[in-house]
Amino acid sequence: MLAACVAVFYHPDDKRYQSLNGKKTIVPLYEFSVPIMADKRVDPDKGSGLVMSCTFGDLTDCEWQKQYKLPIKEAIGKDGRMTKISGKYAGMPITKAREAIIEDLQEAKLLVNKKAIKRAVNVHERCGTPIEFIHSKQWFIKYLDLKKDLLKWGRELNWHPLHMKNRYDNWIKGLQWDWCISRQIPFGIPFPVWYCKECDEIILADEKTLPVDPTTDKPSVKACPKCKCKDFVPESDIINTWATSSLTPQIVQTLSSVNPKKLFPMSLRPQAHDIISFWLCNTVVKSQLHHKTNPWKDVAISGWALDPKGKKMSKSKGNIVEPQKIIEQYSADALRYWSASSKLGEDMPFQEKDIITGEKFSNKLWNASNFALSHLKTYNQKEKLLCGFDHWLLSKINTLITNATEQFTQYEYAQARLGVDMFFRQTFCDDYLEIVKDRVYNSDRRGVAEANSGRYTLYHSLLSCLKMIAPIMPHVTEEIYQAYYKKHEKNKSIHITDWPKELTVDKTYEKKGDRAIEIIHKVRKFKTDKQVSMKAPVILTLDQKDKTLLKDFIEDLKAVTSAQEVKFDNTLQIDLVD
Ligand SMILES: [Zn+2]
Ligand SMILES: [Zn+2]
Repeated sequence: MLAACVAVFYHPDDKRYQSLNGKKTIVPLYEFSVPIMADKRVDPDKGSGLVMSCTFGDLTDCEWQKQYKLPIKEAIGKDGRMTKISGKYAGMPITKAREAIIEDLQEAKLLVNKKAIKRAVNVHERCGTPIEFIHSKQWFIKYLDLKKDLLKWGRELNWHPLHMKNRYDNWIKGLQWDWCISRQIPFGIPFPVWYCKECDEIILADEKTLPVDPTTDKPSVKACPKCKCKDFVPESDIINTWATSSLTPQIVQTLSSVNPKKLFPMSLRPQAHDIISFWLCNTVVKSQLHHKTNPWKDVAISGWALDPKGKKMSKSKGNIVEPQKIIEQYSADALRYWSASSKLGEDMPFQEKDIITGEKFSNKLWNASNFALSHLKTYNQKEKLLCGFDHWLLSKINTLITNATEQFTQYEYAQARLGVDMFFRQTFCDDYLEIVKDRVYNSDRRGVAEANSGRYTLYHSLLSCLKMIAPIMPHVTEEIYQAYYKKHEKNKSIHITDWPKELTVDKTYEKKGDRAIEIIHKVRKFKTDKQVSMKAPVILTLDQKDKTLLKDFIEDLKAVTSAQEVKFDNTLQIDLVD
């Protein structure tokens, strides 16, 4: 870089060099002279305490060039090779030139000291090649002066999870350049700009004629307004992808025929954490600059799907799992079920067994729904009385609705999924379906009102479960809805029905029902231990204390445990009938 040397700097407090102020020094090998200047950005403890400044050495060099109006000298060309000004090294790649120049310095006995140092070098994120600054014309959006506003706009967003706001703040605080939006690659959105061939005047396209490609379309003026020249050069740069994707809310707005005005500002930006600096931040910038408002109210930041070993998936490493294949092999619902298990903001390794769990859950939804709905063929929705276990289940589902609503509102879909999943498997399928079966099968023996109470409960609890899991498993829930609920609920699709509402029930039944469930589980365990069928008849002796508590549960309890008789005594006892 000696060829590009434009000045030598020292720290103004550095007594060793204060006497050199205003003097000049000769650049070795090249023999031209450069000024010696004082600047506070020099670290006097680093090396000799003297810094050689080349126009494009690093960011400080660029700042010095601007501040002290130093000449612009380019030692490295766009091809990554040394330029003409480097003399005999011209055409050499950077590393080769570095070796050659050290050799020459040594030969000329100009090298007084040489030691290995460690320093941070900016590299290309994909291939690790060190980055060199080069001189080129680019398009920028000016925002370095808006740091304070940018931080304020970030505070005005509702962050889910909150700690992701730190990434936004750190990015803003660390900004050193305005936003460079131009790229020199063939594909992308063109800048609608021409230049006057004579005076370089910038000619912008008429907004009404957009989109415009200046390489094929004619400029908006016949002659340059400045010099009357009639020849124009089209801008060949394209707009960087983040500069266009930062307009997604506005683009989506133009695509909607329904209330486009209502769509902006939007309620939510869901995205992953790796592009907070690019996509999220830039969308805020564009929205604020164009519309003086944030583009959305909430942001929900998800994590990454990692490979099974917890490593980042990448094409070059060959550890990619293709979603399309998973969808074909299992189902979209199974894949969604898995991805909805990720905690907001946290990465999650991909495990095929979790997809299988999703597939099984989808099957369970389908089978259990078919079973439940097969009892609802001749049913009208009006309930007159509710049995104990029906109060119990609906009370539980009310709690589930409250929780899931809150969790979805906070974008904690993983918690909502877990809650509905557990409820459906355990409370609904394992417990309630087994209990209500006898009542809805045998209305002649158990009573029509009792059967209808069960049907009412089945209808509403299943529908609520389906609605709550529908955002995560949209296909299987829609299929079930279409097959049965549509004709009762009137909405064309489950996805446009109202969110489940809590039903009026007697909450006191929840505790009583829990006690009854406890007894059922004990009987099941007893039969498992004795290695007999779940249908094996027993005589059930309950604790006297439970008599009043369980009075509305006895008939169901009897049926589900296959108890021939339920008695009351001092303690709980289960006896097999021989
Ligand atoms: Zn690279
Ligand atoms: Zn002109």
